[in-house]
Amino acid sequence: MSATANVKIDYYEVLEVERTVSDTELKAAYRKMALKYHPDRNPGNAEAEERFKACSEAYQVLSDANKRAAYDRFGHAGVGGAGGPGGFNGGSPFGGDAQDLGDIFGDLFGEMFGGGRGGGRATREQRGRDLRYDLKLEFEEAVFGKEQEIKIRRMDLCEDCHGSGAAKGKQPITCPHCGGRGQVRMQQGFFSIARACTSCQGTGTLIVDPCPTCRGESRLQRDHTILVKVPAGVEDGTRIRYGGEGEAGRFGGPSGDLYVVLTVKAHAFFERDGDDLHCSMPVSFPQASLGAELEVPTLEGPSTIKIPEGTQSGKVIKLKGKGVPHLNSSGKGDLLVEVRVQTPTKLTKQQRELLEQLSETMAVDNAPHERGGIFGKVKDIFS
Ligand code: ZN
Repeated sequence: MSATANVKIDYYEVLEVERTVSDTELKAAYRKMALKYHPDRNPGNAEAEERFKACSEAYQVLSDANKRAAYDRFGHAGVGGAGGPGGFNGGSPFGGDAQDLGDIFGDLFGEMFGGGRGGGRATREQRGRDLRYDLKLEFEEAVFGKEQEIKIRRMDLCEDCHGSGAAKGKQPITCPHCGGRGQVRMQQGFFSIARACTSCQGTGTLIVDPCPTCRGESRLQRDHTILVKVPAGVEDGTRIRYGGEGEAGRFGGPSGDLYVVLTVKAHAFFERDGDDLHCSMPVSFPQASLGAELEVPTLEGPSTIKIPEGTQSGKVIKLKGKGVPHLNSSGKGDLLVEVRVQTPTKLTKQQRELLEQLSETMAVDNAPHERGGIFGKVKDIFS
């Protein structure tokens, strides 16, 4: 026996709604539950079927103002109690309410089969799958762009039958079992449930004489070479879409798309932040103190920067336009060089003496500096 004969769960709980639920909310909640537990979506799942029936029963009662009032006052007893008046296997116990249900299920089947209820004919056409190709790029390749041929294997339209799947001069015939609708309706208790036609697998047509080349599949596996044009300035994770370069659709359906997904390798020296590049330059203590000219690498070759005298560790020097080209506009990001003052180690005797002399001439206040001073971060300086 169904759950309706056993201990009955509260109708509001079945539909996961509050007792104060409005009619509109109730309908929405029922739709949601019915879609979730509909037998067509849960083939062979007895529990889902029970839930589906329970939701339907709850909705039948709660969507009727009189029955809902009776249920609110007397519980299940108010609307027939355990077993109910005829339950769900005894035809339509609720008479006129069925119309509202039909309304709901019209939408339901529309959503599930992608067409109007019972109206349209099924079709064999199916969109081809999208394909994904992972392309690894060197750091510089992402910055400057690149053209590369990639090889993909995909399903292509069979040229011999032009995607019909039928032998030359033959056409697929309308499936006699479902009359071309692709689905057959089965009465299950109170409800009529649509199931895919088993003769034509829901396609509505049958291929009696299949194309010998593709054996009726309408497509063939083929290798392709595609030229991928990576524009300058792409980032790790960028997807490039090639419309229609995915798998061909079945039986003349539209092709899927090809997505080339880019992975960009890290650089040994530069770190990328959007279109800006970051790097750090070691500078000796005397260079930082006295000022110096230094050669720094950029992606376009070495460049000279001036370190002013008295430069503190952490200072960032900006090289405008030495970053990554903007992907969708002209111009480039910047290169930000952070100065790292190196404390000398492994001193020679002479160097030690010189430092000691220097030290004696300098009185240093060793109080910690505030944030924003020499301990400030690069970001603080530029924000
Ligand atoms: Zn063919």
